[in-house]
Amino acid sequence: MRNKTNTRLCIIRIDDVDGTNLRQIVNFFSKFKIKVCLFLVHTNSPRFWGRGDWLLLKKMILEHGWEVGGHTRLHKPLILLPEKKAREEIIGNIKDIEERLNEVGLTYKVTSFAYPCGDHNLTIKEILRKCGITFGLTYPDAPDYKSVEDLKEVNELPLLSFGVTHTGKPMNLNLWNQRFMKSNLYIFALHSDTFAALKARTLLNALKNLNMEHVIRSIKFLRILEEHLRFVFYHGAKFITFKELSKLLSNS
Ligand SMILES: [Zn+2]
Repeated sequence: MRNKTNTRLCIIRIDDVDGTNLRQIVNFFSKFKIKVCLFLVHTNSPRFWGRGDWLLLKKMILEHGWEVGGHTRLHKPLILLPEKKAREEIIGNIKDIEERLNEVGLTYKVTSFAYPCGDHNLTIKEILRKCGITFGLTYPDAPDYKSVEDLKEVNELPLLSFGVTHTGKPMNLNLWNQRFMKSNLYIFALHSDTFAALKARTLLNALKNLNMEHVIRSIKFLRILEEHLRFVFYHGAKFITFKELSKLLSNS
């Protein structure tokens, strides 16, 4: 398969998203007019999600082409749970997302799912398959992990053990830029806690506890991320979602 446009494709995946960090993520990426894929947790808890958050997601999906996917309710390692519990964590999470979006007037089908810490096995993959999930997303160090660097490779990869090109570690702009240049399908995995550092409450708590390490590190990370995104833009990358990747694969 060939990437007909010869454009570099880029997917940004953000794990561990809930209503407490959603706004910071939306603000950060809206600045760059970049669409991202968010993987949602705690979806059954009103403590983490309010109606306003679901309305914001609806807006980002409809007006800006963002994607949302599942990441379980409680973020426990799925392979350590009894099958019944694992099923509840996956199916319940997907159902929460679809139902809450439906309540704010959006009919939406979740088609990608990020395994907590990337861990999965055949039973877990079978549950996802039965839910109609196209992409099961894994992570470095998880079983079956394989990085994605080329669109041509995608058809050879099991889509329910689908890796990433890059995780932003270690924090080094030149390294990130090099990773991007090596790939024609660049899948960059980020976590929500980095963006949560932009919240006034996080900053106040850090000041109160005299522990600024996480905040300083996150701000440094976000500065590098901004520079990196400028580099990615400069090289004409097209930002897509997993749903769009799936369409590209079925059209090829
Ligand atoms: Zn996670």
